[in-house]
Amino acid sequence: MKIDNATIPRFIDAHAHLELEPLFRDYEGVVTRARQAGLAAIVTVGIDLEDATRAMQIAHQYDDVFACMGYHPHNAKYAGARELAQMQDMASDTKVVGYGEIGLDFFRNHSPRDIQISIFDEQIRIARTLNKPVVIHLRDAYDKGLSMLEKSAPFPSAGVIHCFSGNEDDARRALDLGLYISIPGTVTYKNNHKLRSIVEKIPDDRILLETDCPFLAPEPLRGKDNEPAFIVHTAKKVAEVRGTTLENIGKTSTGNACVLFRLPRHIAGQSQTA
Ligand SMILES: [Zn+2]
Ligand SMILES: [Zn+2]
Repeated sequence: MKIDNATIPRFIDAHAHLELEPLFRDYEGVVTRARQAGLAAIVTVGIDLEDATRAMQIAHQYDDVFACMGYHPHNAKYAGARELAQMQDMASDTKVVGYGEIGLDFFRNHSPRDIQISIFDEQIRIARTLNKPVVIHLRDAYDKGLSMLEKSAPFPSAGVIHCFSGNEDDARRALDLGLYISIPGTVTYKNNHKLRSIVEKIPDDRILLETDCPFLAPEPLRGKDNEPAFIVHTAKKVAEVRGTTLENIGKTSTGNACVLFRLPRHIAGQSQTA
């Protein structure tokens, strides 16, 4: 059975922050514009308890918004035993489709490195206990982060390195761990040849697209507050780099996001509402 509107490109924003300002104050408008742009779903990611509570609220308001949550490496210094227990409890909700973003950020160092490392380790365990895919943030810390993940492997519920910024070897190590690689708007930036050469080689069954909004708006909107609707620009660049069509990369990445986050069937097959 062929439905001809199946050719309308559909996308899933695998990593957004609708609960962060300035998006939160107009999240209803943001969701409406995303749907108009062809988004089948948005995964919004809470980065501490308060933020995760807002992410949960938005996810429960919409059928096509899902949440992930965990203590971001920036906030690792606030993650005591009690906070982590509360996060784990909240993340057991059925609208929470992954645990994270967790990881290491040695670029900003908002939390001391040793604390980032121990909280990452503890949260890898939480993701495993919850049986949910792990959502990983690594910045200037790929070697350390991947070594920690390799020690904790395997990951039966898989996971994703979001906003990928590593090199080719890092990508290979992530793929060997069974992880997905999520490509943000930075792939459109003029000088980012490194990321484009990796995007060219990611296997079809492991690539995701994301905005990481409100950060990192793609060209030609760079510098603006990013939002899920802008993912189309990222998708166009990824399609061009991989020598495929917008429809195809939409279909491939949407299918992958549905598998990884175990999204309901109607999300994967949804093509009538555009
Ligand atoms: Zn991140
Ligand atoms: Zn993020």
